[in-house]
Amino acid sequence: MNDTFKRYLDALGKTQFMPAQHLQNYQRELLRQVVEHARRNVPFYAERLKCLVRTDGTLDFDRWREIPILTRAEATQFAEEMRAVDLPPQFGDVASRVTSGSGGTPLRFAVNALAMLAYNAAFTRLALWHGANPSRPLAQLRIYRQTAPPLYPSGNNTKGWSQLAPDTDCFGLDMRTPIDDQIEWLSRHRTPYLMTLPSNALALAYASSGTELQFERIFSISETILPGTRELIAEKLGAKLVGMYSCEEVGCIATECPEAQHYHQCSEMTLVELVDDEGRPVPPGEPGRVLVTGLYNYATPFIRYELGDVAIADAAPCRCGRSLPVLSQVLGRTRHAFLFRDGKRVWPRAWNEIAMRGFVPCREFQVVQLDYENVEFRYVPDGEQPIDIDGLAAYAREHLHPSVEISVVKVERIARGPGGKLDPFISQLT
Ligand SMILES: [Zn+2]
Repeated sequence: MNDTFKRYLDALGKTQFMPAQHLQNYQRELLRQVVEHARRNVPFYAERLKCLVRTDGTLDFDRWREIPILTRAEATQFAEEMRAVDLPPQFGDVASRVTSGSGGTPLRFAVNALAMLAYNAAFTRLALWHGANPSRPLAQLRIYRQTAPPLYPSGNNTKGWSQLAPDTDCFGLDMRTPIDDQIEWLSRHRTPYLMTLPSNALALAYASSGTELQFERIFSISETILPGTRELIAEKLGAKLVGMYSCEEVGCIATECPEAQHYHQCSEMTLVELVDDEGRPVPPGEPGRVLVTGLYNYATPFIRYELGDVAIADAAPCRCGRSLPVLSQVLGRTRHAFLFRDGKRVWPRAWNEIAMRGFVPCREFQVVQLDYENVEFRYVPDGEQPIDIDGLAAYAREHLHPSVEISVVKVERIARGPGGKLDPFISQLT
């Protein structure tokens, strides 16, 4: 497998700079193969993919958008039917996976080794883009769903965070470990690299003042990165925060450009579509619902799968020279849009962490829209400094909606959602 990995990683080094049309052709061929497989070997897709099949049996991709969007609820309900009945051996061993589903119902699916290889290659490429060396150790703090969680004080060492260097230390610890114990554990391992959720990185940044805890790179997973977070992490932990947008069902979706603060789609392994409420493609610069199609998961193919996220594409070529299409922003969950009486919808992701902490010195916060006018700012105070409620209210009216009334509530802790995620913006209206 290691030779295959190296060859694939070499290929990814070239495809990222391919002329756009060549890249599209490369992606189309992978798409054709997974679609052919799905319609022949996966009962769930037999009917859904018929719209693509011409009378001579070839596939007509001009009709791609007629394929129904696959919701998470459907994927949960039809888990068995979505699994391939027959899987040729070249796709590798199959493992079972489970993720925390919407409404608490777990989503069960299968993934083959080739999909895992592609996922790890995309992560490795991201690490190399940002000057990280796969032969140096990495610590990860996250929620473990597939295995028993590695507990404090020992955690675990699974070795080889990149398949390029399988003997490198890769330490892991359950993210639900109290923050001071996380710091003690990290101080013992002293790795240059950390992988965790940005909200957990921020919690570490605040709790570790006065300690020696520092990193070179922190790879950010599972949550979107709010403006200002990178600066706070750089200041307090000395680290460059590097974003990765992925999901377990299809793998890597997009990774952060080393030269600009946006993401490049991993077109070699995932097809990304952004659509409006009616399922029509949205133009660049406008928020759209994210649909993904995994090009290597043959065990449970996900075709036009709606993640529940909203993102914005940018049509301009990136100055780094990579032709991989750009996502300028991942705005987060669809259900986290704030809705106002005049019909305006706002994803408050552009709120700046540093600006907000200037009004309300806090370690963590959560902004909750209670109704059309009332928004609650919940926060865990950072020290005893005074808060500037008028400044916060003016900021909210400027960045959310002029009708907003804001109130502040001091709390001891912000509760985490499924997967350990801290949702910084929640609307009770959407
Ligand atoms: Zn770039």
